[in-house]
Amino acid sequence: MASKSKERKNRKKLKCSECGTVNYFVRKNHVLQNRLELNKLCKTCGKHTLHKETK
Ligand SMILES: [Zn+2]
Repeated sequence: MASKSKERKNRKKLKCSECGTVNYFVRKNHVLQNRLELNKLCKTCGKHTLHKETK
């Protein structure tokens, strides 16, 4: 189904800006055009770090 592949395309990873570990997945909709940057807990760093959207 075409709709399923579209959903997968909109899924983005959130990568820790300090160690580079991918800790979170987000579903991005078409309205959000700007890059996501969220302060989230990184298990590798053991603290809250800035997580940035990656492909
Ligand atoms: Zn980290």
